[in-house]
Amino acid sequence: MMINPASLAFDIDGVVADTMGLFLRIARDDYNIMNVDYENITSYLLEDCLGSKIDKKIIDIIITQLIDGNYVQSLQAIDGAPEALNKIADAHTPLLFVTARPYPGPIRDWLTETVGLSHSGIHIISTGSFDKKTDVLLKHNVTHFVEDRLETCFDISKAGLHPILFKQPWNRERHPFKEVESWNELTALINF
Ligand SMILES: [Mg+2]
Repeated sequence: MMINPASLAFDIDGVVADTMGLFLRIARDDYNIMNVDYENITSYLLEDCLGSKIDKKIIDIIITQLIDGNYVQSLQAIDGAPEALNKIADAHTPLLFVTARPYPGPIRDWLTETVGLSHSGIHIISTGSFDKKTDVLLKHNVTHFVEDRLETCFDISKAGLHPILFKQPWNRERHPFKEVESWNELTALINF
């Protein structure tokens, strides 16, 4: 399987952006929650896996902070993502990002400032819900989508698209999809 860069699109949170890492830093710095590690995030639904350690109200407040960019900590890129995305952008632009965030918020500037992409080289679509991703991908002739939420992989697969699961502690159930553990592994699949 070699992927045409023009047919590839990307989720953002958990794939390009270390959003869960930021969640944990905000929990630690702003709410003094010290007993949660990245590996404890074993479900995409944070209250399912962290509910015994963090009050649900605080989880919701932090998620709102994340979406609005209302934090002083920095959102880090996932290891290797900036280098890989810039290499892919050399082969094809604009890069298409499809996120279930309700609005891009801080993400557009983050992709240029932290990931080093150009404003004209990115196209961000925020769907506001997971189940709208498939239609957006079909409309943009995407064949391969890099995603960390396993349920979304099943959804887009049903529409005949090829999900590529980006390995994270919250997607460790059995699945039939191509899986990558790093951006190096992903770029090895691309036909540059
Ligand atoms: Mg994600």
